Amino acid sequence: MRKNIVAGNWKMNKNLQEGVELAKELNEALKGKTINCDVVIGTPFIHLAAVANIVDSDKIGVAAQNCANKVSGAYTGEVSAEMVASTGAKYVILGHSERRAYYHETAEILKEKVGLTLANGLTPIFCIGEVLEERESEKHFDVVKSQIVDSLFELSAEDFGKIVLAYEPVWAIGTGKTASPAQAQEMHAFIRKTLVEKYGNEVANNTSILYGGSANADNAKELFSNPDVDGGLIGGASLSVDKFMPVIEAF
Ligand code: PEP
Repeated sequence: MRKNIVAGNWKMNKNLQEGVELAKELNEALKGKTINCDVVIGTPFIHLAAVANIVDSDKIGVAAQNCANKVSGAYTGEVSAEMVASTGAKYVILGHSERRAYYHETAEILKEKVGLTLANGLTPIFCIGEVLEERESEKHFDVVKSQIVDSLFELSAEDFGKIVLAYEPVWAIGTGKTASPAQAQEMHAFIRKTLVEKYGNEVANNTSILYGGSANADNAKELFSNPDVDGGLIGGASLSVDKFMPVIEAF
């Protein structure tokens, strides 16, 4: 059966010392606790090796927030999936709306990144989600379906089975405006139905679909109680243990 996952996305926050401190605190907070979900922290590249080294890998998985769409070579400033894997990280967040919007990541580029991530034994946490105008004009289901189809549906069923999806309505990210539990469930059920049509029941039922967008201690329980919401991708509320632990414990 699919896993419940609570994944933090630190974005471009915390210098190395602050990030290591936060990872240590989270590791301590989880020690001896029974947790009903997998916990992941998505750090900036420069933190990956240090953080992967200090956390208990049975309790906390480490994620990069991006990787290059090239294998290696003359791509100044880029970080390859192989490099990410060599740090001990296990996941890569791909297709976050901030990367799509500010760094012009297209479906094609994301398809390449997903392929390289999988080829290096990493799990993509693949983000999808509509902007406000798309929801208001009732295009949100079409938009989300296209994002999935255009970047992921050339994968074999075996490879698709390694993907984690994160539905993140862009209007809810960092805005304090969360999708209602009913809106989240409606979209997650639609996504799962889309997966059933392409890959069948087994793959669809085994795919974890996380919700992201201003999820926090106050709303996580209600969001996660929906049958098709298998956890969260958490931005702001992952930046301190006090805020992140209650989200983890919402399962
Ligand atoms: C995110 O960065 O993926 C996110 C959901 O951010 P926030 O929780 O701050 O809305």
